[in-house]
Amino acid sequence: TEELIRTEKLQKIFVVGGGFARSKLVAVDDVNFHVKKNEIFTLAGESGCGKSTVSKMLLGFLEPSEGNVYYKGKDVANLKKWKEKKGFMKEVQSIFQNPFETFNPLRKVDSYLYDTQKHYGMSKKDKMVEEALEAVGLDISEVKGRYPNEFSGGQLQRISIARALITRPSLLIADEPVSMVDASLRMSIVNLFKELRDNRHVSVLYITHDLATAYYVSDRIGIMFRGNIIEMGDVEQVLMNPKHPYTQMLKESIPEADPNKKWTERISIKELETEEYMRKGCKFAGRCPYVMDKCKDNMPPELQAENRMVRCWLYE
Ligand code: SF4
Ligand code: MG
Repeated sequence: TEELIRTEKLQKIFVVGGGFARSKLVAVDDVNFHVKKNEIFTLAGESGCGKSTVSKMLLGFLEPSEGNVYYKGKDVANLKKWKEKKGFMKEVQSIFQNPFETFNPLRKVDSYLYDTQKHYGMSKKDKMVEEALEAVGLDISEVKGRYPNEFSGGQLQRISIARALITRPSLLIADEPVSMVDASLRMSIVNLFKELRDNRHVSVLYITHDLATAYYVSDRIGIMFRGNIIEMGDVEQVLMNPKHPYTQMLKESIPEADPNKKWTERISIKELETEEYMRKGCKFAGRCPYVMDKCKDNMPPELQAENRMVRCWLYE
């Protein structure tokens, strides 16, 4: 299958603190993945793992410190010309966590949608707004003349997905699109991604800390930990038969009785975040039950084990 977006050795370094406390934090390091046509690829990990930083680099909101982003083979990480940027954004649209921030609270939702259509050089006659709303199961009459605050979070997220579809994109990048949506509506929103993939050939890069929806919606998945993708492959294989000790720990942390509970909720140790980020070798070495001497000083490379990538010395 055809490849849409690809990252190569993507890295982002932030300078944190000031004065003598000034230091470098490698927030994203050596991240390599691609999203194919007609697929839903998920980047999953607890908050602070670097997944949003990756999505910002893909969308051009942040410049990579090292590495590249290719869209259909073309380097897009540093598009300087407005025209090129607009062309890229027409094909790669994003959906954000909070739909109320996507829309201007003082403007009627339909006029906002028509403006998006106009911004990309299409006229009302093209009926793109109507078509996009239809794709998410809505009719223009349901949004006409209404302001954002007249909708629930779930409804408005549906409309923001419609907004993203107006340009008929090939790829949607959705960063935590359901984390602010009512739990009872989450599945219906992620279900839309499946429908868009199957009926409109839209690919989705789904970014989430919620492994329940990730398992339900993804074709392939990459698990991130402290800036690296530590395991990546077919979603069924990775989540049901994990190889990396961190993914194994994630899986065990899901309470059987409550599959909707966020997988990472019980494993995220915020206090260890900086210490783990600063580690020279495997970032998980401080907590890994299988840690070996070499893990402490040597960062494991991307290795292959049973049809997936694992960044762990156990699979050398
Ligand atoms: Fe554990 Fe070593 Fe594998 Fe890291 S590389 S996950 S410390 S066994
Ligand atoms: Mg985030």
